Amino acid sequence: MNNLDIASPLLGTADVPPVHERNATGRSPFLITCDHYGRLIPRILGDLGLPERELRRHIAWDIGIAGVADQLSDHLGAHLVAQRYSRLVIDCNRAPHIASSIPLISEATTISGNDGLAGDAIEARRTQIFDPYHRRIGEIIDSRLHAGLPTVLVSVHSFTPVYAGIPRPWHIGTLYHRDTTLPPLLLKALRNEGDLVVGDNEPYAVGDDTDYTIPVHGEKRGLMNTGIEIRQDLISDQAGEKAWADRLGRILVEIEATLRAEKLI
Ligand SMILES: [Zn+2]
Repeated sequence: MNNLDIASPLLGTADVPPVHERNATGRSPFLITCDHYGRLIPRILGDLGLPERELRRHIAWDIGIAGVADQLSDHLGAHLVAQRYSRLVIDCNRAPHIASSIPLISEATTISGNDGLAGDAIEARRTQIFDPYHRRIGEIIDSRLHAGLPTVLVSVHSFTPVYAGIPRPWHIGTLYHRDTTLPPLLLKALRNEGDLVVGDNEPYAVGDDTDYTIPVHGEKRGLMNTGIEIRQDLISDQAGEKAWADRLGRILVEIEATLRAEKLI
């Protein structure tokens, strides 16, 4: 392209790699992705100009989802791919050309460390954090395809119980756009639980501008897919994380049986 391809170093020897994986040899048809798993910041970026209390809020990561994702992966024997760095560094569920990719404001917080970034600083975040994560998801889907393994993409997130002063009633939501197979099965199963307020494309719907993982890895590759959003106050401790991982694990095992019975995978 141009000399912007020569990105300045962002991750140093003291920084961990961006991609977290678990159960990579699992035989489950489900491939779990977790775009907002971690809240690490490369050391060279300091605290992005934010106090610690802001860096622990939902603006930095999806609170509680890491514990759910790891345990769900174990429950299913499903390959999990997750991003360890904060969405405030670069949001791995946004196309890099979208303004909220490296947000200047999240909810009502200004992220001063993202203000006035030079082109090479933006490029470094993309090439060293965003790209390795999405490249890895692509590679995993390729290798599963070559091995004859079905792949059903499940993208897990969590949402804040109150956003901009508005409380959200849902315990869990399914998020989808073009897949008409998996989301209805998941919605039905969640409603059958009997004790849940279930969001149907709430609190968010999937869109090409507001999402990346599902449109690019799910829809463009023709995979069955869904997003799952869990309300953060339900998974704010280890007991909650385990309870939701167990519940989703049980539900997804039942859905896998349905998909196999109907020869959809
Ligand atoms: Zn998220």
